[in-house]
Amino acid sequence: MAGVTRSPAGRFAPSPSADLHIGNLRTAVLAWLFARSTGRRFLVRIDDLDDRTHTHIADRQLEDLAAIGVTWDEPPEWQSQHPQRYDSVIAELKERGLLYECYCSRRDIQQAPRAPHAPQGAYPGTCRQLTEAERRQRRDETGRPPALRLRTDAIAYTVHDVLHGDYMGIVDDFVVRRGDGVAAYNLAVVVDDVAQGIDQVVRGDDLLPSSPRQAYLARLLGYPEPTYAHVALVLNEDGARLAKRDGAVTLAEIGVERAVEQISASLGWPASSLDEMLAQFDPAQLPKHPWVYTLTG
Ligand code: GLU
Repeated sequence: MAGVTRSPAGRFAPSPSADLHIGNLRTAVLAWLFARSTGRRFLVRIDDLDDRTHTHIADRQLEDLAAIGVTWDEPPEWQSQHPQRYDSVIAELKERGLLYECYCSRRDIQQAPRAPHAPQGAYPGTCRQLTEAERRQRRDETGRPPALRLRTDAIAYTVHDVLHGDYMGIVDDFVVRRGDGVAAYNLAVVVDDVAQGIDQVVRGDDLLPSSPRQAYLARLLGYPEPTYAHVALVLNEDGARLAKRDGAVTLAEIGVERAVEQISASLGWPASSLDEMLAQFDPAQLPKHPWVYTLTG
């Protein structure tokens, strides 16, 4: 397995869908603090499988991270640049009989009949037991290439999170390769994290529900499970997740000095640089509640 001889690392893995806002920057700072305070390397990865044409946004994200003082130890990897890494894992899973083709549209999934106690948001298993003849028929009917789903033997899996403790979440037959042939998010992050020697995953707590699926897949592939820390998201004054449309929330709008001050103040350790924050960093003291960002900040 790649990465096992390198010292372990933490990471920040933005998707280049839009410029980073103060909430994303705060998550990046926390990921950096968690890694550096535990003697880990730190890596930045561009998760651009959905936004492959957004290189200009990714470049700006990297510039913004560097501007606030986030440092990384290897040139950033871009997910779109190594499809073979995902393909070989997908081939392995296929060989082990763990994948099946799925012809369902989003709508099919929403409308599918469910067992009375089936968890919300779980794939109902429509394509799991199709015969070859049925598959051929679905292929002809839909006229689009199928996605590949993992044939799981669990309905839930528990991960340990530094901030949330034991967290149990759904593991359904999730997609590992989309109909367009691109690796799905849950597969790509697991494969990349291990290939890059990442053993500490710090990210926004909107991704906590994805971690049981990812940890389940990691175990299936014989990978070590990373340490997780899902940090509270930043909210706007209405209590909704902060977004770019909320106003002056990007680094270009806030300015580097002010952004660093705001982030450190939100953590409860006023500081003017990331190194000063690092000197005081204590995960046990992290605020448990989300940070509400006021535009006058
Ligand atoms: N690229 C994902 C996002 O920006 C995060 C992936 C991860 O941290 O696992 O939402």
